[in-house]
Amino acid sequence: MTADRKTLIAGNWKMNGLRTDAVALAQNIVDGAKGLDCELLVCPPYTLLHTVGDVVKSTNVMLGAQDTDIASFGAHTGDVCVEMLKDAGCTHVIVGHSERRTDHGESDAFVCAKAEIVHAAGLIAVICIGETESEREQGMTMATMSTQLDGSVPKGATAENTVIAYEPVWAIGTGKTATPKDAEDVHDHIRTYLTTKLSSKITNGMRILYGGSMKPGNAAELLSQTNIDGGLIGGAALKAEDFLGIAKAD
Ligand code: PEP
Repeated sequence: MTADRKTLIAGNWKMNGLRTDAVALAQNIVDGAKGLDCELLVCPPYTLLHTVGDVVKSTNVMLGAQDTDIASFGAHTGDVCVEMLKDAGCTHVIVGHSERRTDHGESDAFVCAKAEIVHAAGLIAVICIGETESEREQGMTMATMSTQLDGSVPKGATAENTVIAYEPVWAIGTGKTATPKDAEDVHDHIRTYLTTKLSSKITNGMRILYGGSMKPGNAAELLSQTNIDGGLIGGAALKAEDFLGIAKAD
C-alpha cells in the first residue's frame, strides 16, 4: 500500500447468508467501520443486495455484486444485468472470480466483456486473476498473470473504474496463503505488466488487492507490502469481527 492508493477491504460473501443473519452481519460491520480510514465493501449474493443495501446506505460501507451478466435486460432466464445491480445500490461488481472461471467456464474474453459492461454502467469492476497450484509449481505464475491481464482487462480501464484482485487459486478457501514476499512479487509484476498496456499514471493509481485466506492474523504483513492495496476476503468476511480485524490491520 502507498499513501496515494487508499486501502480497499472487500468481502465476498459468495453463496452465503439468509436475510436475518445478513442484516446482522452488515449492521455489525457498519457499526465497527465507523472512523476507519480504509474503504470497505461488502458483496452479498443477489438475493440480499437490497436488504444489505438498506443497512449500508449512507454509511462508509459500500455495496458490491459478485458477478453480472453481459446482456442488458430481456430473455436471459436466471441472469442479472448490471442495471439491476446499479438499481440495488451497487458501486462495485466482482468479475472473473476463479469460482466463476472454474464452475461456469468463464474465459478471459468473457470476463473482459463483463468488465466493459460494468464500466459502461459507471460502476467499478473488481477483476480477479490468479494462478492454479500446478501453474505455480511449473513456474508459470507471472506468465499466467500476464495472459489473464491481456485477456481480462479492458482498454478503457482506469484507476477509478478498475480494481485488480490477485487471488492465487490454491490459496482460496484452503487456509494456505501466499507469503507476503511472494504475493508482493506478483503484485509488482501485475503493476509493471499493466504499465505496458495502460499509462503509468493509471497503473500507479490502480488498487491491486490480495485474496486467498486473508485473516486478521496475516493481514498486517500482507497489507504492509508496497503493491498490496487491500484484500478480497472470502471466509473471513462472514464474521464482522474478522472482517473488521483485517481492516484494522491496515
Ligand atoms: C475469495 O473467494 O475471494 C477468497 C479470497 O476466499 P478466502 O478468503 O476464503 O480464501
